[in-house]
Amino acid sequence: MRNYLKHFINGEWVESTGSKTIDVINPATEEVIGQISDGTKEDLDKAVAAARAAFPSFSQTTKEERIQLLNRIADEYEKRKDDIVETITQELGAPLTASEKSHYNMGLGHFRQAAKELESFEFTETRGNTVIRKEAIGVSGLITPWNFPTNQTATKLASAFAAGSTVVLKPSELTPFAAIILAEVFEAAGLPKGVFNLVNGSGEVVGNGISSHPDIDFVSFTGSGAVGQKISENAAKTIKKVALELGGKSPLIILDDFDMKKAAKIAIANVVFNSGQVCTAATRTLIPKSKQEEFIEAVKEALPNFPVGDPQDKKSFLGPLVSEKQYNRVQEYIEKGIEEGATLIAGGTGKPEGLDKGYFVKPTVFTDVDNKMTIAQEEIFGPVMSVITYDDIDEAIEIANDTVFGLAGYVVGEDDETVTKVASSIRAGRIVVNGARADFSAPFGGYKQSGIGREWGEYGIEEYLEVKSVVGMPS
Ligand code: NAD
Repeated sequence: MRNYLKHFINGEWVESTGSKTIDVINPATEEVIGQISDGTKEDLDKAVAAARAAFPSFSQTTKEERIQLLNRIADEYEKRKDDIVETITQELGAPLTASEKSHYNMGLGHFRQAAKELESFEFTETRGNTVIRKEAIGVSGLITPWNFPTNQTATKLASAFAAGSTVVLKPSELTPFAAIILAEVFEAAGLPKGVFNLVNGSGEVVGNGISSHPDIDFVSFTGSGAVGQKISENAAKTIKKVALELGGKSPLIILDDFDMKKAAKIAIANVVFNSGQVCTAATRTLIPKSKQEEFIEAVKEALPNFPVGDPQDKKSFLGPLVSEKQYNRVQEYIEKGIEEGATLIAGGTGKPEGLDKGYFVKPTVFTDVDNKMTIAQEEIFGPVMSVITYDDIDEAIEIANDTVFGLAGYVVGEDDETVTKVASSIRAGRIVVNGARADFSAPFGGYKQSGIGREWGEYGIEEYLEVKSVVGMPS
């Protein structure tokens, strides 16, 4: 049992002022694996005060000092690799291979990248006798979800530290243990006290407390659209800057000149990875009508290569969903797809054979999907693919953009001109061509209802900065 009943405030592990706790469940076994404190408004106030007190000196540290700090953090993070991998597998249910190759590496990538970005980052610019300065924004409140416990925390924290902002973090109550390890990493790396503060608890109390706190200057949130809206409303009352990373319903456009077997593998991987709990998941697969049969056969053939199973088993590609709530939500969407007339060609409702315990779901593929159907319009956050056909490339682009979201888009094809046309026509913040790997320097964020602002790399650092003009500066 991991009982972490303390918050990390002003460089110390401190008791909560309240006595309520929250159970943390391993979604593969449905067993309680530990507890955290259900933080209070008083806990949050203490954390904000610590961050506020640390701000004047941390914001004045030099770029070189912060580069060294970020690299020390990355070094300490590397020392905790085994712990991080195991923790993510236990609290999220991500298979060990994914915990290591994706979750662990993404966290590390953001700290290293922020250090690298700082080397060439210019905090001042002179135009005649005007000097433009970029200054740390103040105290940042960070609210993160459960689907990438190290990636989403690390991208925000690395950017904040690079900019010289101090922070209060509230990680998801479903996956809080990875953030506890991060706090230990920062302690070991010698982060000055008060720069990082961790308050565990619910969205209702700590989350709402952050978005409405008068002493927090900026809120960076990743999670659902409904909560993003609430945060914006709360933040408006104190005119706080807000960055939102919300959901998506991203299209993958498969061009007719691409090998269908390769396309099927890319399509499946981009739907089932992390059990489909990915905001950039390519859940709408757009396929030329003439290639439909060939593609479906390729999907059926490739699907067994993505087995669902015990996350402790390195051969499992998918583990369970994070919670019973997510399990029920995904079941409802699968039922809805059947009800609305889509054709089920793989998966379906219920648990996969032999996996009665744990929130496991079957990787599910629907064909004959109309883009107006609920399963093509709403974010399911489970391993459910909707295959939609198109007649020509203009129709494909029209379908791709017929969504309230705009987080990501994918295209696979051989003809460079058509690939370029698709990449420039999809209204989304990140387009991935032919299954390319992640680039930590590339900005990440959404158009439309997928969010406001950008994370990752240089653009991520900019979010934590204010811009000041000093006009008439004596030379
Ligand atoms: P959520 O938005 O409810 O929770 C995300 C974080 O916000 C958690 O830390 C939570 O405690 C906190 N929170 C909840 N209510 C809050 C409030 N009123 N004020 C401030 N913070 C609050 O997301 P969830 O329940 O974890 O997942 C629900 C859905 O959100 C998913 O099914 C998925 O569609 C979406 N989601 C998207 C992403 C993404 O990366 N875009 C990530 C996770 C979840």
